[in-house]
Amino acid sequence: MVISRSRFLAAAGAGMLGFATRGRARAADDFDPATTATRQALRVLLGRGTAVAQGPDRFAFNGRIYRGTFTQTSDGSVVNLVDLEAYLYSVVPREMSPAWPSAAMQAQAICSRTYVLQRSNPRRAYDVVPSELDQVYGGCASESPAARAAVDATAGSVLRYAGAFAYALYSSCCGGHTEASSDAWNGPSFAYLMGVSCPYCTASPYYRWQRTLPLATVASAFTAQLAPIGALTDVRLGAIDPSGRAKTVELDAGGASEFVMASRFRLSVGARTVPSLLITKMGLMNDSPASPAQEPGTLAITGGGLGHGVGLCQWGARGMALAGHRASDILAFYFPGTDVGHDCRRKR
Ligand SMILES: [Zn+2]
Repeated sequence: MVISRSRFLAAAGAGMLGFATRGRARAADDFDPATTATRQALRVLLGRGTAVAQGPDRFAFNGRIYRGTFTQTSDGSVVNLVDLEAYLYSVVPREMSPAWPSAAMQAQAICSRTYVLQRSNPRRAYDVVPSELDQVYGGCASESPAARAAVDATAGSVLRYAGAFAYALYSSCCGGHTEASSDAWNGPSFAYLMGVSCPYCTASPYYRWQRTLPLATVASAFTAQLAPIGALTDVRLGAIDPSGRAKTVELDAGGASEFVMASRFRLSVGARTVPSLLITKMGLMNDSPASPAQEPGTLAITGGGLGHGVGLCQWGARGMALAGHRASDILAFYFPGTDVGHDCRRKR
């Protein structure tokens, strides 16, 4: 799941974040899991193409078979109308390995279900897109028996805070400390998204990582994505937030220094190139030329984690599940103060 600052703030402004301070809060007490799935199908925007019915509850689109039915928007895009739980059959094994322990997948199923229910908006032509911008959804071919079992075991369960849907964010590996939503996106802060120390994700291949980048590559990426920049001679860590993530990065270019938001720096060089902002060390490599005016040097970056780090740490969920914790324990650890429930009645 890739959440940008604009998407986070849009959701907060629309009152979709459970404990929003303005707008109409999307309360969990107007959600009845026993009837919602049949009363109102989830609408997934698949895009342009030709859909062909394959029986009463299946159709083919761009070489894939999907559950449910379909409709088309005024611009010709195909929208899949699908039962929420059937949608989760496909999403959960795409967002988390179906080979992982069932408690971790159950925690994922609850997060994915809650995320969708927050975003459903009757005023739009669709609720979610099938990519990382929301959650990855690939139709029937993505399903697995283990993931279906995790969805069925948690059917109707949602993550709540103060009687409303919690903002059930997740990312791959936090690197040892999850991130506060307010630090990640300079948005509102939520008591259950302040960041926790996580000792459970050390098995992730991204728990610690190192990257090297030629300064010339950084400069050209920065120029292409953000703003023209002169000859780059050094890049250093600037401010660090309480979770240990970089907030700013200092660039030396053209004889002057400039601070830029670390998130913008990461996006400019590529989110895959710099897997997270939990950067512990950044600077010129020792063997970089002594005179950068003659030849730009190479930047060395050391860090940990993969993704934004807010909410559930998926590798941490795996680690907790292997240690014997239940899905509800996992969610209570990463979202302190929340609970999991079916009744969805506002707490008094
Ligand atoms: Zn973690």
